[in-house]
Amino acid sequence: MHIGIIGLGVAGISILKEVDKQTTQEMKEQLSVTVFSESEGFGTGFPYQPDDDALLINQYTETMSIDLENQEEFIEWVKNKRSLNDLKNTHLPRSLFGEYLYEETLKLIEKLKVAVVREKVQAVKILENGQFTITTDRTEKQVDSAHLCIGHLAYQDPYDLKGETNFIYNPYPAMKKLSFENETPSIGILGTGLTAIDTYLYMKKTHPKAELTFLSLEGRFSSVRGHEPDIHTHYICRESIQHLVEKDKDSVSLERIKEWFQKETDDHGIDLSWVWQNLGEGTIEGMQKDLQHKEALGKFQALIRKLRDCYALLWNALPDEEKDVFLKEFGRKWSFFKAPIPQKTARLLINDITEGKVKLLRDIRSIKKENERFKVVFNDHKVQSYEHIVNGTGQQKDLTRNIHLQQPVVRQMLEAEILMPYRYGGALIDYPSMCAVNQKGGRVSGLRVYGQLASGIQFGNSSVEMVAKSAQYGVRDMLKDID
Ligand SMILES: Cc1cc2nc3c(=O)[nH]c(=O)nc-3n(C[C@H](O)[C@H](O)[C@H](O)COP(=O)(O)OP(=O)(O)OC[C@H]3O[C@@H](n4cnc5c(N)ncnc54)[C@H](O)[C@@H]3O)c2cc1C
Repeated sequence: MHIGIIGLGVAGISILKEVDKQTTQEMKEQLSVTVFSESEGFGTGFPYQPDDDALLINQYTETMSIDLENQEEFIEWVKNKRSLNDLKNTHLPRSLFGEYLYEETLKLIEKLKVAVVREKVQAVKILENGQFTITTDRTEKQVDSAHLCIGHLAYQDPYDLKGETNFIYNPYPAMKKLSFENETPSIGILGTGLTAIDTYLYMKKTHPKAELTFLSLEGRFSSVRGHEPDIHTHYICRESIQHLVEKDKDSVSLERIKEWFQKETDDHGIDLSWVWQNLGEGTIEGMQKDLQHKEALGKFQALIRKLRDCYALLWNALPDEEKDVFLKEFGRKWSFFKAPIPQKTARLLINDITEGKVKLLRDIRSIKKENERFKVVFNDHKVQSYEHIVNGTGQQKDLTRNIHLQQPVVRQMLEAEILMPYRYGGALIDYPSMCAVNQKGGRVSGLRVYGQLASGIQFGNSSVEMVAKSAQYGVRDMLKDID
């Protein structure tokens, strides 16, 4: 069997790792593996590419590993390589995680005798015999099984500014894209998510006199990461949910999930209604409150993280009407609890914003380039202007809109109807085989999809742990074909 892996970030590396783990030597001899990856992000992926140390992993060090059986793998690696101890509850630079990934990649490439094509894939086509051709500008290969691990979708461009001088559409790597000659550039940072916060941290370190303004719709960041204890669940566990879904999918309803969740929180001594109403607001006052309740908040966040392995099962078992109810009633706040920011970062933001060193403005109506500056109009008709705008609005996960922003292979696979846009983001994927579902509703066996393209069926998640898990499921399903 010839396996093609497109993209070599966390997903692509996890596929290699799982192929290694799930095969005997005899099986390995029947496999040949080719990876295709652009040079930028080769063996690290987009978030963990070489960049400034100001850009941090947003999870605690002890929870970052791509080895699902050894949660300590990264922390042990750091201890050995950097002689750092006492790493519990720390947030290390993302580029350090990239170094660990890169080392793993080189080991796996050698061990599995992987052929490497360091080129960007432009197209993936299905042949009549069920094989796939993977095409770059210079190479074309046929494979029996293709793993699409291209990671992040294109950034959004809500004010149609892409191409304007001084509009920084994609600010990574920050060391390259956020270098300004002027010591005091005036910069509007669009958004308040992860990328916007990275921009703030990097600028604060490299251009402490820059005039920074967060330009947002609602003026909210996220929840602050509390102190997370080890948690074991009793009511929502993968085995029991899987059993239930296989036996009777219709027995899963939003009401039942709420009941289980309530029992789970009661069991851990979490006052669900108090936490929900009082914490995780994401405003400056909200972050201050989170910092005062780190234990209660951390317990809740640890529980949410622990349940990740069940998200896709539960989410896919729910009828769409109930998914919509969930998103409307709980979606926004849940996303804040699910993706917290480090405490130190929250303290910096609170201080700088309350002392007026950095501005946080909300209710943007429009942004246009006029006379070499970006003119921002707010809902109350007030106007501000900036020399530069940095785009921190996150990725365009809806594949029915602004397709021109997506990279060629995504556009080609949508046009060829091999991928079907999924209403909750990314493409429709059959879970847990991770096989693409085409626009006729058929499962494309042999083509498996991971990362942000698969995040819609994973309840919006594409964290390291979720991506590594989906690689485990995808490889397990693929290997059934050669058993
Ligand atoms: C800024 C940022 C910070 C994050 N921080 C965290 C964190 O701290 N913790 C966490 O758990 N998650 C974090 N995430 C979530 C992140 O999605 C995952 O951690 C992980 O990087 C996903 O891996 P991936 O392989 O799907 O994508 P990527 O890491 O993006 O890797 C995709 C790879 O495919 C290559 N590629 C793309 N297109 C092609 C093509 N056409 N041909 C060939 N190669 C291609 C790219 O160059 C890249 O190397 C973060 C995400 C972002 C954007």
